[in-house]
Amino acid sequence: MDVIAPDGMPANEPVLAHGPGSIERRTLLETLRELGGTVTEAPCVIDGKDVHTGRQFEVRPPHRREDVVATVHGAEHDTVDAAISAAMDARHDWQAMPLADRMAIFDRAADLLSGPWRARLNASTMLGQSKTIQQAEIDSACELIDFWRINNHFLATIAARQPRSTESAQNELEARPLDGFVLAICPFNFTSIAANLPSAPAVCGNTIVWKPSEKQALSAHFTMRLLHQAGLPDGVINLVHGDGGLVAERCLADPAFAGLHFTGSATVFRSLWQRIGSGITTYRQFPRIVGETGGKDFILAHPSADEDALVTAMIRGAFEYQGQKCSAASRAYLPRTLWARLRDRLIDETRGLAIGDVADPTTFLGAVIDERALRRHQDLFDRVAADADVTVMAGGTTDESDGWFVEPTILASDDPRHETMTTEWFGPILTCFVYEDSAWEEVLELVDTTSPYALTGAVFAEDEEAIGRARARLRFSAGNFYINDKPTGAVVGQQPFGGSRASGTNDKAGWENNIQRWISPRTVKRNLAPPTHHGYPSTEPD
Ligand code: NAD
Repeated sequence: MDVIAPDGMPANEPVLAHGPGSIERRTLLETLRELGGTVTEAPCVIDGKDVHTGRQFEVRPPHRREDVVATVHGAEHDTVDAAISAAMDARHDWQAMPLADRMAIFDRAADLLSGPWRARLNASTMLGQSKTIQQAEIDSACELIDFWRINNHFLATIAARQPRSTESAQNELEARPLDGFVLAICPFNFTSIAANLPSAPAVCGNTIVWKPSEKQALSAHFTMRLLHQAGLPDGVINLVHGDGGLVAERCLADPAFAGLHFTGSATVFRSLWQRIGSGITTYRQFPRIVGETGGKDFILAHPSADEDALVTAMIRGAFEYQGQKCSAASRAYLPRTLWARLRDRLIDETRGLAIGDVADPTTFLGAVIDERALRRHQDLFDRVAADADVTVMAGGTTDESDGWFVEPTILASDDPRHETMTTEWFGPILTCFVYEDSAWEEVLELVDTTSPYALTGAVFAEDEEAIGRARARLRFSAGNFYINDKPTGAVVGQQPFGGSRASGTNDKAGWENNIQRWISPRTVKRNLAPPTHHGYPSTEPD
């Protein structure tokens, strides 16, 4: 840990620019070529040992769909059972390890990632998840380093905060982990989130069954190797690849199940919550449930908005990483006069975005994650082509010749509650609704009530009164609310992340709230002057 800010929080990992001629660009592209020319064997890892199974599947780069870059060993029932046993067996020693030693392992992991592991984890994220250099760097390097360091900071803060003691009583609060194992189930789109879901409970002393997304298996494999090199003891995090339903079935039926750390779609999260609810009499304790889910994130522009900043935020917010961020802008509300001024420019900039292989540094968008995602977009494009309420302003096509490419797309909808304004497509589509300049109050109502989600949102305005009204009226419309900024790109320690409504439990990953969920504190009172008689002054006779 190099730099500590005045508030005691570790500084954020600087984003390496990877500019032309830089060492980091050369190293990254060499590593990418090396990984892309190899078929990596990615086993499950249980109790520190590689486990090869009979349920293999392949990882193919979404932008080069004919290539195979990994063979992954998916868990079977007995693999999951072994992972649960390993997690339970490792608990005693892991909890007994001093807090400072546990934290040192994750600090070491952060240092390794900041240095020798950076290019490897970035390259595996680019290859397996089709991220550009910039998108990989802010995710699999910087955000993950920040999670590891800043989780430690909050854990140390919590552990140090003690209740009041008196002359007669010495009181302590032990930052005790949960009384069982934690199941971490992860999405495909962020290597950092996938690593944080097992790491945050682990540093608190819990042991974990970790199920990354099938689509993120390559970078998850290298994350596990990195943690091993950092000194994580065997059995603390047990990696099981593959079918989430199968893993959940075994884990959620086990009486020792103590917590779920989930990020992914609201549909899967609801189904897991329901299963936990129906099995509630099975468990030895009431499990902790933390889940961060989808979004239908908005950009709302006021007539006073700065046009240049707005267009840039729309392009970056909607199209970076192909719109596959839970925070991606997918609905925009624009006043009529501003729309008339910026429409052509928005369309031109969108059409000019470079789309292709992420190995080419000039690429702005790679491919969407898989064939299913491409078909979902194709279906929508077919529907809107025949829909009188929607106009395709830019994009609206797919191309699967080399990979799963979806053109960045701008739609304009006359219906503010059209499915393109309400449903999370998880791809590069931004739907615009144009409102009358004078209808600020009405549009605030619309933004708040249109989507079931409440993850991120941005308001663009120079008029302070308009900003104030939006901030008040949209209090529950987004857990991360941005003023004159795009709704993506939350930085750990700076913009604690998470939303409510259908977007999750809002436990703010990378912040103290999240760390608190993995601790079940024990209060210890030592009586320094025990009473020696049962009576009180009030019970004595006059
Ligand atoms: P997903 O819900 O399809 O999958 C998430 C994980 O759940 C995967 O590991 C998958 O294998 C597993 N899974 C699927 N079905 C399951 C079942 N029946 N039982 C148990 N596990 C099961 O999501 P995804 O496509 O990987 O990720 C995209 C979603 O994640 C989007 O909705 C996005 O908004 C959301 N997301 C949210 C945040 C956030 O912080 N709020 C961050 C990233 C992604």
